[in-house]
Amino acid sequence: MHTVICAKQTPSTTAILAVEEGKVTWSDPGGSPDIANPWDEYAIEEAIRLREKHGGKVTAISMGPEEAREALKTAIAMGCDEAVLISDEAIKGSDTLATSYVLAKAIEKLGDVDLVIFGRQAIDGDTGQTSMQVARRLGWTPFSLVSSVDELDPEGRTVSVTRAIESGRQKVKGALPAALSVLKEINEPRYPSFKGIRKATKYMRRELRTWGAADLEADVDRIGEAGSGVSWPEIYMLPPREGECTIIEADTPEAAASALVDKLFEEKVI
Ligand SMILES: Cc1cc2nc3c(=O)[nH]c(=O)nc-3n(C[C@H](O)[C@H](O)[C@H](O)COP(=O)(O)OP(=O)(O)OC[C@H]3O[C@@H](n4cnc5c(N)ncnc54)[C@H](O)[C@@H]3O)c2cc1C
Repeated sequence: MHTVICAKQTPSTTAILAVEEGKVTWSDPGGSPDIANPWDEYAIEEAIRLREKHGGKVTAISMGPEEAREALKTAIAMGCDEAVLISDEAIKGSDTLATSYVLAKAIEKLGDVDLVIFGRQAIDGDTGQTSMQVARRLGWTPFSLVSSVDELDPEGRTVSVTRAIESGRQKVKGALPAALSVLKEINEPRYPSFKGIRKATKYMRRELRTWGAADLEADVDRIGEAGSGVSWPEIYMLPPREGECTIIEADTPEAAASALVDKLFEEKVI
């Protein structure tokens, strides 16, 4: 079994965003502004658990600038076997259409891939589109909103999953190769061990492969701005929300609660 996980680098959840010359920038006083997209940790964990059960290997891929190495470092530290960074000036300005084209090309180049696993969405772009676009491009069986992988049969070339949909749970079975986008409830991602973090640091220095558009034999008209169906004519920060805070003082919690309810009535909140 060869499973690929797609991990996106995103600003950390505590990063301070800004817009400079029409570009989004971010910094993090806490130190690490770039992280692996939190939703992708569930994809990494599921791939490792399937390897523990069925053998084979797990390759992590990420498309992005140099900072995307952070996402791959997390993947190796958690237990992925290999990683590939896809980075090239030519892919800058790619929307999800162009991103999915690049990721599909990378999966084809890896070859012999049985399963690709994605997070539900990225915490920055938040479209949730890329996974199913990649499945469509590869012509693979698409499974979105996966809350559990119930059965995987590498020999019989099938996979059965449960999807969490609005009206309940849906049990679905389909042929390999397949693409899954997974939900938070699928597992509890492990914390990288100290040994895993050390292995990742070495791996990133010595073994990480970096591919550009030429390595993927990508059509330049299908990547970057040229390959994007969406453009960002204007990017701006929303004005900071204004608001005031009233502290309700009272002798007892009950009196404070009653004063709060009166205030909420007064303000027509309730
Ligand atoms: C006009 C335009 C210009 C843009 N320019 C840039 C740019 O210059 N640089 C830039 O970083 N972004 C850029 N973006 C944003 C970029 O297109 C999206 O972040 C990217 O396509 C993924 O979409 P998303 O963030 O909505 O992820 P979703 O579709 O919500 O992600 C779903 C899942 O797909 C996988 N995935 C998504 N993106 C990647 C990735 N890059 N690598 C590996 N796995 C991935 C992850 O598993 C993720 O959980 C641009 C977008 C537009 C519209």
